[in-house]
Amino acid sequence: MIIVLKSNATEEQIKHIVEKTKKLGFKANISRGVERTVIGLIGPEDVLRVTPLEAFPGVEKVIPVLAPYRLVSREFKKENSVVKVSKRVSIGGKKIVVMAGPCSVESAKGMRGIALKVKKAGATILRGGAFKPRTSPYDFQGLGEEGLKYLQDAGQETGLATITEVMDPRHLDLVCKYADIIQIGARNMQNFSLLKEVGKIKKPVMLKRGMSATIKEWLMSAEYILSNGNFDVLLCERGIRTYETATRNTLDINAVPLVKLWSHLPVIVDPSHGSGVRELVGSVARAGVAAGCDGLMIEVHENPEEAFSDGPQSLNPKNFSQVMKDLGKVAAAVSRTM
Ligand code: PEP
Ligand code: MN
Repeated sequence: MIIVLKSNATEEQIKHIVEKTKKLGFKANISRGVERTVIGLIGPEDVLRVTPLEAFPGVEKVIPVLAPYRLVSREFKKENSVVKVSKRVSIGGKKIVVMAGPCSVESAKGMRGIALKVKKAGATILRGGAFKPRTSPYDFQGLGEEGLKYLQDAGQETGLATITEVMDPRHLDLVCKYADIIQIGARNMQNFSLLKEVGKIKKPVMLKRGMSATIKEWLMSAEYILSNGNFDVLLCERGIRTYETATRNTLDINAVPLVKLWSHLPVIVDPSHGSGVRELVGSVARAGVAAGCDGLMIEVHENPEEAFSDGPQSLNPKNFSQVMKDLGKVAAAVSRTM
């Protein structure tokens, strides 16, 4: 339920509405736009059906939200959300941001080396997993806190912001200590306990689409985070499972403009997991930019042959640099910058 206030609604009237609805068991989220203030109510919508909110002073109209994801929706917020990551980095504006780095953090030296190279090529965010969601328990599971330190050190040395995955709510405080953006991986898109916890932190969260999740399910998962108080959410399309086996996943390019239509949240495209094939990464990244994404996540490794994980889809620094140059042209064609 969305309450659109009159343009001359007073603070007292807003307070009154918030207090009244709180008594009815609702959580109110106030969104102040340039021209209008709207209040999003989360709670037992049935109660509101018998409460004449239209009669409250200051209320212009009450819109029952058909889409089950309310705070995430365009109806709730017309303008694009811009997520501020650090003093230098924001996501959702004209500039398309690039997150790059290895799939896994492997060593301090490796992290520092790749950070310098991806920065030189134009990336502004350094990626690297310290807790890895591997299909096999016998595969490399990540360096844990040690890896987080290497990622943070490399980020600080180069002035790059950092992103890393959290898989377990018990590790959330630790990961927050070291990274600027918290990644929820595809496999945890519907780990609702984890989503509630990252909803309570004060850091941006990148929510990857589950490999078999519909767009609505993905947005509902984002709703868990926003409804717990964290509005700094990025949505990452990383490919879905289809019957096609020639590629690791099928990047759903439709999802990019569709999510931009339905939601105000920034959209990131991950052509590395989206294709799983190094030779396709550049083309798929360009498609993402052409389709209107706000950022890209690209896996880059000094020597992909020796990567602890996801080598076949990782670019080496030279190829990454070329991909970045080519992206600039596509970005300019759609009135964006890199
Ligand atoms: C990753 O970013 O390395 C990763 C594991 O991604 P996903 O959750 O999309 O598979
Ligand atoms: Mn990976």
